Parts: sequence; structure tokens; C-alpha cells
Amino acid sequence: MDTLLVPIGDVDPKVIETLRHDLARAFKKKILLARGMPQPDYAFNRRRNQYLSTAILKAMAEKKAYSIYEKVLGIIDHDLYVPRLNFVFGEAGRDVAIISLTRLRNEFYNLPKDLPLFRKRVLTEAVHELGHTYGLGHCGNPHCVMFFSNSLIDTDAKGPDFCARCKAKLPDQT
Ligand SMILES: [Zn+2]
Ligand SMILES: [Zn+2]
Repeated sequence: MDTLLVPIGDVDPKVIETLRHDLARAFKKKILLARGMPQPDYAFNRRRNQYLSTAILKAMAEKKAYSIYEKVLGIIDHDLYVPRLNFVFGEAGRDVAIISLTRLRNEFYNLPKDLPLFRKRVLTEAVHELGHTYGLGHCGNPHCVMFFSNSLIDTDAKGPDFCARCKAKLPDQT
């Protein structure tokens, strides 16, 4: 069964293509690319200037054309939130997940651009959220991709790999 990658609104096609390649390698699965979903105005919170990730997940889960895929991962280039948090890097539902690129760029923190680091962060967050859709919870190992990231320091320290215990819980890993 395949995973579908869905750009939501305007997302750099190069970032999508790189992630597709990296994810296929990480999960040893075929990753297909959807044409994408429109800018999710319904999820925009004007006061916070952020998008409610849960609302976008719901729209993705309700899309009939996506239901044939095992997992669906949305990518958005806007900041995401859920009600009790300042922001989220991503969110996962049952078989759908979403990640935001906004806070994965050094430039967001007024640091010099670092493309390889950005690429690694995008993969790390994508693998983390997909890990949740495979039923994995947060892991106590700070070097495991399922460790909870409060900041990019955590994300950079853990990287995109599962620890042995989490890896064993994933279905059909060869
Ligand atoms: Zn998580
Ligand atoms: Zn783990």
C-alpha cells in the first residue's frame, strides 16, 4: 500500500520531490504525489496568523480520492497551531498527517540559510508524524525520531531514524 504526499497551497515543488525521495528510502515504500489541495482558508486564524492543523487534517481525511492510500501526508508552507499550543511542527490523525515547513528553516530564526539541514528537518518531521499514523507514541530516546520535539534543538538532535524498539513496532519493515 502506498503513501500519498499532498502539497497544501503553494509549496516549493523541489522540497516536495526531495521529501518524496527521502521518505521512500526511509519507509521502503512507494510514495505518490497528489496534485494538491487549495490554500486552506477555512483553517486560517486571523488573530493568531496561523492555520489550525486539525481542520486541515479533517479536510484531508474527508477527501474520497485519498481514501485508497494507506497513509496521506500533507505539506504546508504556513505556520500551524492547535488550540493550547503556540505552534506545532505537525499533527497526525489516524491515517493522515501534516507537517509545516515554516519553522524548519533557519531563516525563521534569523539564522543563515542551511539547505541540507532544512532537508533533514523536513524528513525528520515527516517521519515523526507518519510514525504516529502507524500507531507509535512518543519515545523517551532523544535520538529516536519519535522523541517529542519542543524546539528545533530536539529535532536536530534526534534526526530521522527510529530507535530499535520503535522500528520493531512498524509494520512490514524489511
Ligand atoms: Zn509527536
Ligand atoms: Zn523510539
